[in-house]
Amino acid sequence: MISIAIDGPSGAGKSSLAKRLAAALGYVYVDTGAMYRAIGLYALRRGVPPADRPAVCALLPEIALRLAYEDGAQHLYLNGEDVSAAVRAEEVGMAASGVSAHPEVRDFLLEMQRRMARSQNVLMDGRDIGTVVLPDATLKIFLTAAPEARARRRLAELAAKGEAAEYDKVLADIRQRDEQDTHRAAAPLKKAADAVLVDTTDLDFDQSFETMKALILERAAKAAAGPQSAAGEGGGCSTV
Ligand code: C5P
Repeated sequence: MISIAIDGPSGAGKSSLAKRLAAALGYVYVDTGAMYRAIGLYALRRGVPPADRPAVCALLPEIALRLAYEDGAQHLYLNGEDVSAAVRAEEVGMAASGVSAHPEVRDFLLEMQRRMARSQNVLMDGRDIGTVVLPDATLKIFLTAAPEARARRRLAELAAKGEAAEYDKVLADIRQRDEQDTHRAAAPLKKAADAVLVDTTDLDFDQSFETMKALILERAAKAAAGPQSAAGEGGGCSTV
């Protein structure tokens, strides 16, 4: 199976790029952030502060998550309810960042994520895919961009949905989430040693897409040619 791990901070364009790449390459897109968001949403609905580890852990046995693919799009069901749209709210993103710091929450989702990569070719995005979830991924990409560029894109995205937001607030939220995600003890956001860094600060969507597609096709071809030539960065074995 081919597995592509895409990690990076919020707003680097992971999910829109991963979605488009998966469609172009015929892989299944797995949005692990949406899973953390569903747990964040459940905590908010139950009035549990996301940072309250024992209270969040006590909720886990009540949560059943299911990912389904309908008309080519990923739908996320939380206890039977389609929450794909509800989890996109800003406050849910912040709650997801809170609950995702608890190791029990991460363990709860880990096996589900690994199982998905065992049975199909996947393009999985998140924060710890290359470092924890799929350490043997065919290709790992660390996708990043300057916080200001990510805030501008997020603002444009919100504007397209008719939601007004202030640049300073969006930028502050991005910085706060970066801080939380990179400094937590459990599976912090960091580039895997063998991940390829793609910085999209000065790239538009199409340029980012083409850069990543070329990397994936090259690595997938090596994987198809045999295990020796599929060795990651520094593996360097030529089969010619
Ligand atoms: O990617 P997205 O913004 O939807 O993720 C929401 C939050 O879920 C992130 O800020 C991060 O804290 C958490 N997350 C994580 N590990 C993943 C995916 C997301 O900790 N693999």
